[in-house]
Order: sequence, then C-alpha cells, then structure tokens
Amino acid sequence: MTLVNDAAPTAVRSTGRKFRAFTAKHLDELTVRAGLSPEQRLAIRAVATVLPFRTNSYVIEELIDWSAVPDDPIYRLVFPQEDMLPAEDVARIADLLRREAPRQEIEAEANRIRARLNPHPAGQLQLNVPTFGDGVVPGMQHKYDETVLYFPKQGQTCHAYCTYCFRWAQFVGDPDLKLAGDDAYQLRDYIAAHPEVTSVLITGGDAMIMGEPVLRRYVEPLLELEQVESIRIGTKSLAYWPQKFVTDPDADDMLRLFEQVVDAGKNLAFMAHFSHPRELEPQIVHDAVRRIRDTGAVIRTQAPLIRSINDDPRVWETMWRTQTRMGMVPYYMFVERDTGPQDYFAVPLGRAWEIFRDAYKHVSGLARTVRGPSMSATPGKVCVDGVLELAGEKVFALHFIQCRDPELVGRPFFAKYDPEAVWLDDLKPAFADRFPHDDLEYAPRR
Ligand SMILES: *Cc1c(COP(=O)(O)O)cnc(C)c1O
Repeated sequence: MTLVNDAAPTAVRSTGRKFRAFTAKHLDELTVRAGLSPEQRLAIRAVATVLPFRTNSYVIEELIDWSAVPDDPIYRLVFPQEDMLPAEDVARIADLLRREAPRQEIEAEANRIRARLNPHPAGQLQLNVPTFGDGVVPGMQHKYDETVLYFPKQGQTCHAYCTYCFRWAQFVGDPDLKLAGDDAYQLRDYIAAHPEVTSVLITGGDAMIMGEPVLRRYVEPLLELEQVESIRIGTKSLAYWPQKFVTDPDADDMLRLFEQVVDAGKNLAFMAHFSHPRELEPQIVHDAVRRIRDTGAVIRTQAPLIRSINDDPRVWETMWRTQTRMGMVPYYMFVERDTGPQDYFAVPLGRAWEIFRDAYKHVSGLARTVRGPSMSATPGKVCVDGVLELAGEKVFALHFIQCRDPELVGRPFFAKYDPEAVWLDDLKPAFADRFPHDDLEYAPRR
C-alpha cells in the first residue's frame, strides 16, 4: 500500500496517534495528491458542498492506494466524485465557489439540491419514530416488533464518511434532517413498556465515535432489563479507526464495557460495516477484532453493494472468507438505498443477485450466514432470491427477511423482471395485481 507523499496536510502517522479528522476545508489539499486538474478539484469541492465529506489520517495513509487514484476503491469510498450529482447542479455550485459567493447563497443552493435527493428514504423521520408518554421518543426507530434502533445524539458522526452513505442527511447540519436522542432513561422506559422488544441497536452515525463514558450511559440502563437479549453496536470503526479498540485512551475501558454486557447475559453484537477486503488488511484491524472477540462479543459484518467500489463477486468472496477466518460472521449484503447519489452507485437488482450468488457459491458453509442482496425498504427487508422463468414469464423471486407485518416474512413473492430495476419501488408484481406489502398500514407505534 502506498503511503502519502509529503504534500499531506499533516504528515503524521496515525497508528498510536490521536484521531484527527479531515473535512471539506482540507479537500483541495488532499485532491492535489490525486493528480486532478484545478477544474476537477473545484467540481469535487462543489459536490462536497452538498454531500458530507470527512476522512482521517488512517484512511488516508493506510487504506487508500494513492498510486491507483482516482479508481482506487477506498479513495472512491471516501472522496466525492465530480459526477456523483447532476452536471448542472455541480456547475452551479462550482460557479458560486469560483466567485466566492456569500456562504448563505451557497448553502441555499446546496439545500435545494439536497431536497431532491430523497434525504430520508423508507420514511425514516415520519414512519418509524414512536410516540410514548407525552410525545415522541427522539432518536428512536421502532420498525420491527422485536428490534429498536437508537441514535444517541453524541454518536451522530463517523470516523470517516462513506460517499454512498444512506444516512448522509444526518451529517449536513440541517436540524430538520436529524434523528437523535439523548435520554437513556426514556429509551429504557420505552423498552420496558414494550415487552416484545428483545434487541436494541445503538447506531448513528457511528456508535463507536462515542467515548466509553458516554456509550456506558446508554448501555448500562439496558442491562437491568431481562427482556433484552441482545445489544447491537452499528459501526464502521473497525474499518476506519481500529485504534478505537487498541491504542485509543479509552480502548481498555470500552472492552470492559463490552464484557459487562456479556456478563449481564446479553449478546453483544458488533454490527461491523466493511465495504472492501482492503479494510481487513492492516494488522491493527486483526488486533482490534481479536480484542473485541476476547470480551465475548460477536462481530457480524455487513455492507451495501456499490457500483465502482465493490461490485465484483471476488471482492465479496474475499471479504466473507477473510472475515470468517478472523472469527467474524458475515450477515448482510445490502442493496444501495434510494437516496443521495443512488444513480451513481446503484447496481441493478438482477446483477446484484448474480454477484451475490457468484461469491456465495464458493465460500464454506460457515460464511453462508450472509443474506442478500437485501433491500431495507419502507415495508421491510426484501431479499432478491433470484431471476427465473415461471409460466413463460421472466420474474424476480423475492421474500421478506424482515417486515412490519411479521406474517409476510419468509413467503415467496414475484415481480416482473426488469433489467433496470434498482429498488423495490421500481418493481411491478408478477402473477398478481398487487404486492403482499401494498396493503400494509403504517400507524405510528405508542
Ligand atoms: C435491518 C434493520 C433492523 C435489524 O434487522 P435484523 O434483520 O434483525 O438485522 C432493524 N431496523 C431497521 C430499520 C433495519 O433496517
């Protein structure tokens, strides 16, 4: 792997060093290194005005292969690309930046573009936030009976942002686009009042951006609840900042907190986001995985399938094999959601199924815990089981892995084959007038 040259804004080595983020204001210095022209760099700054950008020294120095930029998958994973947004939008913002227009004017234009990018897919803000007691429970989503998601206010960033992030709207600073809570006791009381909840998923952003004392405040009250069988931590920190578990000042305390969850008789499930096998290579990742597993926590892995980053069966096969070798459990391959620069990253559902199958057919049964390609859509998680001909018609076979109505889970259903379809909304029912989920009602939970 190539290390950065001396043009680095700070030429510090990250291992054993304190975390340092690079944001949009460092973007130009960073893209100089990518060998891009001034016009291209301006276009990239324009994209980063609309979509969030953040990275760090570890990603820059240890993960990106600068000799392969701009095609390098990890570069594409964190750096905005000039064609991620419609050309006319990029040109308009680039023009404002070029003439150093007032901040407000630039922000207003950026907001107009964001509003067209379906910032909250699957009705995240409207449909899933429950009401309880006197009002809503901020920062909570309760979509499936047994599982509650919680977004702690202090976990609303990441060690680096992925260009394809489906929660990108959380990071662009508009409070109306945010989902965040900070009342650990309200979370506990809500769960206690809902005995069907057995699994709590603490997510963000990245739950592991929080320091140990803060994460502890959310986790400890949950340990009192007998009904809670598992606590999950949604995170990309193993890929973007494994130091969190090895050399950061709170690393040992964090591991003790994990141990405490396990000792309380709960499954501590680390939902680790890995997009590419390169992220598994550095020794410090192996050390971090080993330390987390030594606490009794289980690490499960998931990622979306993204065009130009990991749309190759060999990439997934390598990931699943390496993860299994390291003692992690492959969990989901997701379809990129219908938000942000989806047009740029989307892989058609038929192709997604082929990639999944071509990777899955070679791995040992131990890695076949993985499911997908899975769409986390408004009614639930829909798995594309395959493309086939049935009664003379070419169709997709699908099933719900998760659904707002548990009765629909695991029942096969069919959609007309469409080579361009990239999301559930693009599909039309086959052998029926309606999909089974078309009649679901979305009454808010109380
Ligand atoms: C994926 C997901 C879950 C968890 O589903 P599992 O199948 O239990 O992993 C919960 N809530 C939402 C909104 C999800 O997208």
